Amino acid sequence: MGEPTPPSPAGEERVEFEREHLAAIVRSSEDAILSKDRNAIVTSWNEAAERLYGYTPDEIVGKSVALLIPPERQGEELEIVRKILAGERIDHYETERIRKDGTRIAVSLTASPIHDARGEVVGVSTQARDMTTTQAALRSVEQQLHGAPVGIAVFSVAPDTFGQLLTANLEMTRLLGYSPAEMAELSAGAITHPDDAEPERILFEELAAGRRSSFGLEKRNRHRDGHWIWVWLTVSLLGGGDPPNMAIAHLLDISERKAAEDELERRRRNLERSNAELDQFAYVASHDLKEPLILLSAYTRMLAERHGDDLDEEGLTFLGHVREEAARMKSMIDDLLDYSRLQTSAEEAGRVALGDVLDTALRTLAPRVEETGARIDVDGELPVVEGSSVQFERLFRNLIGNALKFRGEEPPVVTLSAERADHEWVVCVRDNGIGIDPAKAERIFEVFQRLHSQDEYAGTGMGLAICKRIVERHRGRIWVDPVSGGGSAFKFALPH
Ligand code: ADP
Repeated sequence: MGEPTPPSPAGEERVEFEREHLAAIVRSSEDAILSKDRNAIVTSWNEAAERLYGYTPDEIVGKSVALLIPPERQGEELEIVRKILAGERIDHYETERIRKDGTRIAVSLTASPIHDARGEVVGVSTQARDMTTTQAALRSVEQQLHGAPVGIAVFSVAPDTFGQLLTANLEMTRLLGYSPAEMAELSAGAITHPDDAEPERILFEELAAGRRSSFGLEKRNRHRDGHWIWVWLTVSLLGGGDPPNMAIAHLLDISERKAAEDELERRRRNLERSNAELDQFAYVASHDLKEPLILLSAYTRMLAERHGDDLDEEGLTFLGHVREEAARMKSMIDDLLDYSRLQTSAEEAGRVALGDVLDTALRTLAPRVEETGARIDVDGELPVVEGSSVQFERLFRNLIGNALKFRGEEPPVVTLSAERADHEWVVCVRDNGIGIDPAKAERIFEVFQRLHSQDEYAGTGMGLAICKRIVERHRGRIWVDPVSGGGSAFKFALPH
């Protein structure tokens, strides 16, 4: 190997160009770049260094970098220089420096040696990045995590240390009652309710195997004092490592919501039970009442047949009333039985074409349609819905039957139609009858409620109560609207 050949004039130009180029990069760098000689005397200083530390090049070049170093860290600088001279690099070394105005700033340093033409280390170039805002942001995140109203814990998911707690916030220790030190010794499984252990184990297993990156689970955790707390646990892998080696768990106390849900469920069951008991009662009562009623009717009939001649006119009238009332009571009991059966009977359910159901209902109503001279119109198509055809037939029979019964002066005209709304079909049975006072429009759907006396219109007051129960059993609603010019429009909505 001979002496290095001196650079040719063209080579000199290139070197000069590169030097200029590098100097421009250093000048415009966002990072503070300074160089110092072996004695730690500053030899160059860029604009970012001026911004970061507050000194102009005139104020600092030729002075010792010790100016920038807090008293307790002076030894540190010597160590950095020693390492560089020994050929080592310093990468992202986090430390503190002092600005010209005396404030301390957090910086991340990267240092590398400066060689002369012979390859000797003649100085050190240091690049500094302001970490103050980054560190403040990190501290604020840390504080927020620590004071967050949810329990937060970070744990290892590395195969050999899986489940090991790395850090937990204040709420986590408060929620479970363990000190941070005690918590570090705990495994998630140790404080999990036996009934929740299996689903949790499977989810953790899937996380460990990389089959999922997060999960959420409602479960019970045992507090240090022994009582169980309902919590909502979510676990997500933390990005960074590949495969990830950390996961974050959030724990939210849902005891109050759970207690409210339990209470709601308890009330729902109570309501269901008492409704069933009421239906059972109505069924048994009406069933048992029928027997003496049948005997009462039989005896009054025998009284009329065998002893009718012994009664005067008033006696016969009274006997007639007794027989009428017994017959009315029988109708009421029959209707009540029907009503209670609606709830208990397991009617067949399926797709029902309401058009077909209407035809069946009209066959039963034919004599009354003829008798009243009524006209029954169907405006458009009736829909196909889900439910019991027997019950829908009853619904049409009751509604059309009422339209014929509560007729006005003119012959009845009953019009059926259906409209498709957002989530439901609205079916309408409109008549030109006597109409209903809107103030009483809700009452008529209640059991035994009527707006007229027996003398005016016969009936038990159960027809519309039965209609309401049928519609509600099919998750629908029923109501009545007035019709301008007289009459009523009974409407029921069924989900499609
Ligand atoms: P009932 O027909 O046995 O009286 P409902 O429960 O069917 O019992 O009807 C309750 C009351 O609602 C009736 O007594 C009547 O006053 C009123 N009503 C029912 N349908 C009509 C109708 N289409 N037009 C006018 N009023 C009606």
